Amino acid sequence: MGNCSSHLPSTFSANAADSSAASRLPPPPNGITVHPPYASPPPRPPPPHSLQPSNRPSSTTPAVGRVLGRPMEDVRNTYTFGRELGRGQFGVTYLVTHKETKQQFACKSIATRKLINRDDIEDVRREVQIMYHLTGHRNIVELKGAYEDRHSVNLVMELCAGGELFDRIIAKGHYSERAAANLCRQIVTVVHDCHSMGVIHRDLKPENFLFLSTDENSPLKATDFGLSVFFKPGDVFRDLVGSAYYVAPEVLHRKYGAEVDIWSAGVILYILLSGVPPFWGETEQAIFDSVLRGHIDFSSDPWPSVSSSAKDLVKKMLRTDPKDRLSAVEVLNHPWMREDGDASDKPLDIAVLTRMKQFRAMNKLKKVALKVIAENLSEEEIMGLKEMFKSMDTDNSGTITYEELKAGLPKLGTKLSESEVRQLMEAADVDGNGTIDYIEFITATMHMNRMEREDHLYKAFEYFDKDKSGYITMEELEHALKKYNMGDAKAIKEIIAEVDTDNDGRINYEEFVAMMRKGNPELVTNRRRK
Ligand code: ADP
Ligand code: MG
Repeated sequence: MGNCSSHLPSTFSANAADSSAASRLPPPPNGITVHPPYASPPPRPPPPHSLQPSNRPSSTTPAVGRVLGRPMEDVRNTYTFGRELGRGQFGVTYLVTHKETKQQFACKSIATRKLINRDDIEDVRREVQIMYHLTGHRNIVELKGAYEDRHSVNLVMELCAGGELFDRIIAKGHYSERAAANLCRQIVTVVHDCHSMGVIHRDLKPENFLFLSTDENSPLKATDFGLSVFFKPGDVFRDLVGSAYYVAPEVLHRKYGAEVDIWSAGVILYILLSGVPPFWGETEQAIFDSVLRGHIDFSSDPWPSVSSSAKDLVKKMLRTDPKDRLSAVEVLNHPWMREDGDASDKPLDIAVLTRMKQFRAMNKLKKVALKVIAENLSEEEIMGLKEMFKSMDTDNSGTITYEELKAGLPKLGTKLSESEVRQLMEAADVDGNGTIDYIEFITATMHMNRMEREDHLYKAFEYFDKDKSGYITMEELEHALKKYNMGDAKAIKEIIAEVDTDNDGRINYEEFVAMMRKGNPELVTNRRRK
């Protein structure tokens, strides 16, 4: 559906709605001009002479940036840049350290050259505005300052060192309805805060929720307001934005309001309880069809053992007609959601299932790359998984058969139907020989953990790039995939088309890393309107 979004008519009401809403709401568009470094400029050494423009004295006010509309300043004067924390469609987020206080922050850097038209610039400006507007809420990431220099816009935010929502759930392995309710409460609190402040988030999904710290009781924080808009009651929006699994039906009908955020939160809740998205399909269009059909499956495992109170809430958040959907306040007052409410402590176990299902949707290059990485992992890195494998491989043959998998999953607390076990088997059996070997098992179950480690990724890239040219070519890919019975021409074309973002017909390291770091099977439109 990437093409859908590029065919969007330019007649959406979002802009009109924005300006009127923004003028009603503090801070107004120009209310963000001062960030702390300007309010009280830190003492800075004068730049070396050679760098100073000879035609103007150093006291001249700096040029004004075209995105933020305020004097340009290099964020690197104040912060030292460290490792990359993550990347999305528009920006790369880095760990940064304040030069004087040594305090650590996250800095999202958006290259201004990627902002081609007025709408792109408007979007970034609005993202900054909305973050300032919402700062101070417990479950929303705090913006410390925004800087613009000749090359980029930099948003310095509080550092969320606790990782993404799903990574933590999966690392924990299993959790209870009570824990799911605690997380969902924080997510819906974000929706409530946004809506009461006149903002629709429009891109609520697990990847955009981060834990502030690794602490057990760390708050969960919403980040990424890149698709958010200001609204006032009655405003109608038409732009097709969001991510496929989480998109509300009325967005697909191009006529919607703030209720879309409740829908997305409902989808997240369904996943928190079951490990799989409620609206599922192999392609983006198939997911949309499923969203529009609106049928929610409560009959497959684990739903029969989920409390009826939880199911009641999910249903009310996923009502097709936005008028019938619960509001954020109503969700927060639902008996299952209330603190010390109905939600029980009984554990749910979804980890194995979740990981394998995600693995199933991955492209073949990524699967093989994970396998290469799995082969290079040290003992301690995979200890837990090794134990799990051994517990299933009852005859100690070094491979797991369909029967062993079927018998082993319940021991891990996962009850599955025959067809689901078969699906898992097919997902994990990379070379298609009908059994899962140790490396295949590790590959299929580890991929959410620590995959982003640079040395691992580099080794995997080198494995494919046989001639060390810095690119994985068609031929190299064909050769590597043939070994796993995956090398048909169609598959290779698809992989290249998916991964090769600069369209030069081959895969460079940057593109490879971007593919590997994508947490989920990303069949999504997370694209500002085009
Ligand atoms: P995009 O608009 O490009 O999707 P995001 O704001 O979602 O950008 O950031 C991309 C990734 O960077 C996130 O998924 C997360 O892994 C990381 N990240 C973003 N903000 C922070 C933060 N405040 N602390 C730590 N990591 C962050
Ligand atoms: Mg994001």
